[in-house]
Amino acid sequence: MKVTVVGFGMMGRQIAQVFAQQGHQVHATDTYPEALKAGLLEIENGPYGLKAAVAKGKVSTEDMKRALTRIHVTSDMRDACKDADLVIEAAIEELTLKMELFGRLDLATKATTILASNTSTISITRIAERTRNRQRVLGMHFFNPAQVTKLVEVIRGEETSEDVVKSALRTVRQIGKIPIVARDEPGFVANRLGLTLYMEASRMLEDQVANIKDIDNSMKLAYGHPMGPFETADLVGLDTRLRNLESLYQTTRDTKWLPPKALREMVNHGYLGDKARKKGSKGGYYEYFNIER
Ligand code: NAD
Repeated sequence: MKVTVVGFGMMGRQIAQVFAQQGHQVHATDTYPEALKAGLLEIENGPYGLKAAVAKGKVSTEDMKRALTRIHVTSDMRDACKDADLVIEAAIEELTLKMELFGRLDLATKATTILASNTSTISITRIAERTRNRQRVLGMHFFNPAQVTKLVEVIRGEETSEDVVKSALRTVRQIGKIPIVARDEPGFVANRLGLTLYMEASRMLEDQVANIKDIDNSMKLAYGHPMGPFETADLVGLDTRLRNLESLYQTTRDTKWLPPKALREMVNHGYLGDKARKKGSKGGYYEYFNIER
């Protein structure tokens, strides 16, 4: 299968690596040329990249080399999309940007290409509005880090066809992931739960119930979560987390999604979480609140 990844940032790279490791040809594109170079380096050398997988004995050196040869990058979106069977969009979390992008993807692909968005919070039905055939648009939501996280949410937009949903489910299983199907409701399933936890943790922080480390530890040690809500926000990226909440608030007008003041302040001051690759990132919650991990 030929898979095109549009937006080669944190998630686009992870998704590209997953498909390449499973034998698919991957064409990745980004509006920011530096992202293409940095992305290839990260797939090879990053903490969940191919060399790390070889070092852990999970991938052979030959398979690593083969996977790398399957990933092709270009700044030319039309070229990347030519002949694609599946396009996965992982550009930044903005409704108008995604709507415009899907309008262009609709024209740049053959009629049978499935158009998927990796959006965390934006309505698939809205994203599909500028496409001519909305039946082929759906959500395929991977979780960070996609190389190891098993879940992929398959989100059915109002007009997504049953065949397209079935095909996405087959693809998810074929790449070794486990799908769940969600209706196109704000936050879908996993983020509606995960962001609820994060919002409550933020309110506890504001009320000085406990510090960030103790709140994180409560979820890890009492419930077996691998990361606490603030560590998860740092991993996701605080800019992305802010956009997720803004998008949920704009869609629902429910004040429970109003972004915490501290989150907005951190992003305004260049605290973006664990995004070392983003120049100027000063780290996340632990650095901002000066708490030792
Ligand atoms: P990111 O900022 O790391 O990467 C986004 C990339 O998109 C950048 O490289 C940017 O240059 C590129 N881009 C912007 N506009 C573009 C366009 N018009 N065409 C092509 N490329 C464009 O963001 P990310 O964290 O990888 O998030 C990407 C998407 O995945 C968002 O919708 C986000 O909500 C979703 N998501 C993020 C996470 C996470 O943990 N960060 C997890 C699941 C889903």
